Amino acid sequence: MIEGSGISVGRSAAFLDRDGTLMEDSGFIGDPARIAILPGVADALIALAEAGFERIVVTNQSGVARGYFGEPDVVAVHRELARQLAQAGASLDAFYYCAHFESDCDCRKPAPGMIARAVAERDIDLTRSVVFGDRGSDIALAAAVGIPGILVNEMPAYAGPTPFHRAPTLRDGVRFFLDHVHA
Ligand SMILES: [Mg+2]
Ligand SMILES: [Zn+2]
Repeated sequence: MIEGSGISVGRSAAFLDRDGTLMEDSGFIGDPARIAILPGVADALIALAEAGFERIVVTNQSGVARGYFGEPDVVAVHRELARQLAQAGASLDAFYYCAHFESDCDCRKPAPGMIARAVAERDIDLTRSVVFGDRGSDIALAAAVGIPGILVNEMPAYAGPTPFHRAPTLRDGVRFFLDHVHA
């Protein structure tokens, strides 16, 4: 709240996909030992933090609904991911995951439920926020809530919705966003 103005000013947020964006996508991951953080991710998160962006993970984890692992395993992976990032001086502010599959949930990307919850729970200003992800569902998520979606992958065969921008890595995508969009 700006004092005396009556205007609530929410925080800007970077909504980050997990698998394939922050860490290697090696299938359904329910074991913290399988975490492999991608190169440059810590630097990207530090740059986002310095620019005033909350770092909020939004990840589809249908391995829960499929019975491959439980929600405590998802939480354990997130705790270990945060621990490893902290060793590199980086941090994440919140984790949201969708545990569902083939149900009518409102949170499995590209449905906007996880972002809607984050906005409500964390006083996020969507108009100053952005999505980073490696798949079409991430870019469709960004479109669903009307914010830029930056595709970070090197897949030659990408066939999803047209992203706001495309970069080979999260670090490159964040650099572009902070230099050309946020600035
Ligand atoms: Mg992904
Ligand atoms: Zn869901």
